[in-house]
Amino acid sequence: MMEQKDVREENKSINNHYKSRGRKKKGFNFYILAVIVLLGLILAGGRFALMYFGNKTAYATDKDGNPIKFGGKSSDKESAVEETDNIPEEIKETLDTAKKQAMQYDYDAAIATLNEASIPDSPYIVSAIKEYEEIKANLIPVNMDDITHVFFHTLVVDVKRALTDTHQGRQWNSVMTTIPEFKEIIKQLYERGYVMVHLHDIAGMEEQDDGSFKMVKKQIMLPEGKIPFVMSQDDVNYYVYMENHGFADRIVLDENGKLKTRYTDAQGNVSVGNYDLIPILDEFVEEHPDFSYHGHKAIIALTGYDGVLGYRTDETFDPNSPAFDSKNAPNHNIEEDIERVRTLTSALKQAGYEFASHSWGHISFKSRSLEDIQRDTDKWIRNVGHLLPEPCDTLIYPFGADIGDWNPYQAGHQEGKFDYLESVGFRYFCNVDSKRAWMQYGDNYLRQGRRNLDGYRLFESYSERADRLSDIIDVKKVFDTDRPTPVDWE
Ligand SMILES: [Zn+2]
Repeated sequence: MMEQKDVREENKSINNHYKSRGRKKKGFNFYILAVIVLLGLILAGGRFALMYFGNKTAYATDKDGNPIKFGGKSSDKESAVEETDNIPEEIKETLDTAKKQAMQYDYDAAIATLNEASIPDSPYIVSAIKEYEEIKANLIPVNMDDITHVFFHTLVVDVKRALTDTHQGRQWNSVMTTIPEFKEIIKQLYERGYVMVHLHDIAGMEEQDDGSFKMVKKQIMLPEGKIPFVMSQDDVNYYVYMENHGFADRIVLDENGKLKTRYTDAQGNVSVGNYDLIPILDEFVEEHPDFSYHGHKAIIALTGYDGVLGYRTDETFDPNSPAFDSKNAPNHNIEEDIERVRTLTSALKQAGYEFASHSWGHISFKSRSLEDIQRDTDKWIRNVGHLLPEPCDTLIYPFGADIGDWNPYQAGHQEGKFDYLESVGFRYFCNVDSKRAWMQYGDNYLRQGRRNLDGYRLFESYSERADRLSDIIDVKKVFDTDRPTPVDWE
């Protein structure tokens, strides 16, 4: 939870206490609150000018000595406290909610929240509405054709275990990003004014007058100096071949219901913490809510063949399925794991993540036949699509291998591949492109290029072979010098 920065420490503790006891015990809490407030009054001494305690109304003075009136509903709840502490309890939460919405650029939602406040004529509510309306009036339309999209794979926890001098280790060295690199990247993006948006914030299918649906370009509005960008993470599957190689094992929920990762270190010790992108990003957005537009975070791209999020949920792990693959270790808890994954995908959606298909078998949509793509997509929908909280409309091409070149997708072209993908619900398509931004708005799709911020690309800039990153990061501060170098494409 975000705390209001301008509220004093003691106020925070009251607030936390209140929250921790829950709403049912409100009456009891007001006793405690009253005692704390009285103590505060005594301690505050001369700083406090109490004018009047009425049955229905309480007055205190503001900075200039003018009385502040609190709208009174239930007299015993009103207490006049010193200036920064005098926000009536029943609107504190409303103000906090609206503040967070406004920090995430959802001024309409913030104003709507305030309009529903229990004390609508409170000066705090009135002035907050005025403030957000002013900010909203000064927002700037961003360039919807210049939205960069960066992507990552599973983050490396232990460089020594993952980036070994083997074919596999060298491959990971080129396509993976380390945790310190990722942390520095998001810090720098934030400092440069970048704000995470979803593909659905960029364009959406809208019903037309004739009842048909069309992909319509939206207009993101941000305060001056803020720049939208999209983030995605591929292969969030924690594949079998990655086990015990210095990566997280799986996504879990901790005892507070927060999304975390489980990690097994070189000695076999298991711990739960921030060992991959999701929990690191969550913590960063908690500290910097204004890094996220409307609470939106990254796109999580999933394949199917090893199950998802570190759980072997695929039918090929199910000993009771005709699809069971004898090369896999049978998962005798597959039903529980499927339920666990459903809980996790709901939690991810709740936390602001979107999902994308990355195909079932990590296949190339460019080189494979239409029939192969159909078979693979069926398996993905059956084994992954059904574990997501809503139908998936985003496809992130494995290897960045698009079904077509830069020409717009067209019915009957691309060997019928686009027609098929459209028929099963895909509307957002992402390939890989090293340009700052590559976007294509079609009548029934949005296409976007993505930039890899991995070992290969970081080293390319770090070693000054090429500069494709200086618009978003200062690579000298990002590149993890614990990596083996040079980092070549393996
Ligand atoms: Zn991939």
